[in-house]
Amino acid sequence: MFDTATETAADGQAGTQRHCDAIVVGAGLGGLYALHRLRGLGLSVRVFEAGSDIGGTWFWNRYPGARCDVESMEYSYSFSNDLQQDWKWPERYGTQPEILRYINHVADRFDLRRDITLNTRVRAARFDREAGLWTIETDRGERVSAPFCVMASGNLSTPRVPDFKGLENFRGKWYHTGLWPQEGVDFTGQRVAVIGTGSSGVQMIPLVAAQADQLTVFQRTANFSLPARNAPLDPARERAHKEQYEARRRAALDTPFGIAGHPAPTKAAWEVSEEERERAFEAKWAEGGSISFLYSYTDLLVNKESNDTAAEFVRQKIRAIVRNPATAELLAPKDHPIGTKRLCLDTNYYETYNRNNVALVDVRADPIQEITATGLRTRDREYGPFDAIAFATGFDAMTGALREIDIRVADGPALAEEWEAGPRTNLGLMVAGFPNMFIITGPGSPSVKTQMILAIEQHTDWIADCLSHLRANGYRQIEAEPAAQEAWVRHVNEVADSTLYPLANSWYTGANIPGKPRVFMPYVGGFAGYKKTCDAVAANGYEGFALRR
Ligand code: NAP
Repeated sequence: MFDTATETAADGQAGTQRHCDAIVVGAGLGGLYALHRLRGLGLSVRVFEAGSDIGGTWFWNRYPGARCDVESMEYSYSFSNDLQQDWKWPERYGTQPEILRYINHVADRFDLRRDITLNTRVRAARFDREAGLWTIETDRGERVSAPFCVMASGNLSTPRVPDFKGLENFRGKWYHTGLWPQEGVDFTGQRVAVIGTGSSGVQMIPLVAAQADQLTVFQRTANFSLPARNAPLDPARERAHKEQYEARRRAALDTPFGIAGHPAPTKAAWEVSEEERERAFEAKWAEGGSISFLYSYTDLLVNKESNDTAAEFVRQKIRAIVRNPATAELLAPKDHPIGTKRLCLDTNYYETYNRNNVALVDVRADPIQEITATGLRTRDREYGPFDAIAFATGFDAMTGALREIDIRVADGPALAEEWEAGPRTNLGLMVAGFPNMFIITGPGSPSVKTQMILAIEQHTDWIADCLSHLRANGYRQIEAEPAAQEAWVRHVNEVADSTLYPLANSWYTGANIPGKPRVFMPYVGGFAGYKKTCDAVAANGYEGFALRR
């Protein structure tokens, strides 16, 4: 299609082509839609996936209780109305198995599998400017070339176990939420440690507590969590949603989080009386969901005093739920404004600490020093014995997967080196100095601060339109211009600095990885405005990007 030599291996299968029009890295929700969309342009595409099957995040994160915190009617593809009308979500929030089933249905329905190579990790990607080709190299020794490369390698796809001394000596079994065994884990009768209380830990802890003999939770930072209020999907609600599906999807494009159905707040928290605020927070608490809670007032993420009112409301809820006052105080977050770390959604998280087989340990005051043969040691004491340790310790977020691939142009510096002081992109879509490489939901885009699937579709559609434009106008290369990239990076930082987000040590800033530069990575200016910017850039002939024939 782009006039490159197409050499097909002997059996003639697209899945074995050594040359194609576009290479896609990753077969999660992003990679699958990229394959579908680019194929629709008539391009030959090859997708490489490290996992033994498709699904990305939803393939790997099989820990007990894994569930999406965006409602299932929203957290799904919008590109096919037939698909969204046909699919039936059983619950308000999709479980990991249900979402994986949906992803597999999509792959079959749109015949995606034949271009996906599984069990294959892309190790390196090199661009040859003269030939105008990316060549990727896999861990199975395969080399494939294409003029375009689309990185759909995910934002939370590089699981991280902290480098605790002595893990290799642990005689029990250990797991990471993001690498959970496919066959599941039965904790019945076991003494279990869970380390980490982010979204994964908060979802997993109630289920592990119900199964294990004893559970000890090691908490470094208390996190705010709100009740999900999950329930079977009400048929009347589902019907009403489906009747307006397309209109709702369009409406979502005009919202900051990419989710329709939550009326935009009109008042700042300080503008109303304490009683009115309490009533509003109480209603949101009863309704369930994190976005609607943060959407109670216009200023919860920009004004610390207003934020304090919401934070204190949740702290009081924790104190009312958790019977042991010392445990409640430990669980009540005080070191960051609510919403500046990912707000968790739970089912019976705080209630779990009222069980007599559950203990909470503060490893902020007394950090973990070492894993021992039978448990772990903090500075002051030993814990255990444990039969199993479950690490819910998160990911090298947003840049981890890209930094692991040796991405270079000829013999120039690797992308990882270029990003040593933090990621720099134009619109989160492309990187100056790396032509013809697109990133889906990359750092500098709203991605993780929105409904991810909508963000994926918006990026992929932009990329597909861009490739059509290049083809129609005889261009062969596109590259972010350094000045435009600098301006975008500056804007991303300015917007972040006008909010409360930088006040938290979060994976948004790289703070969870020792030595990682502290840079606020997602764009928090809102999905709607971001999409308008991307559309304007395209309408102006890809302003800020150099196009070459
Ligand atoms: P996370 O939010 O980064 O949480 C990791 C936890 O491990 C934190 O409590 C962290 O403490 C702790 N930790 C890390 N290193 C530690 C150490 N050396 N000692 C003690 N504790 C340590 O990771 P996550 O829970 O996997 O979630 C990551 C993101 O994935 C979420 O924010 C969300 O965006 C997404 N996610 C979504 C869902 C959902 O849709 N419901 C579910 C799971 C995940 P500190 O806070 O002190 O660093």
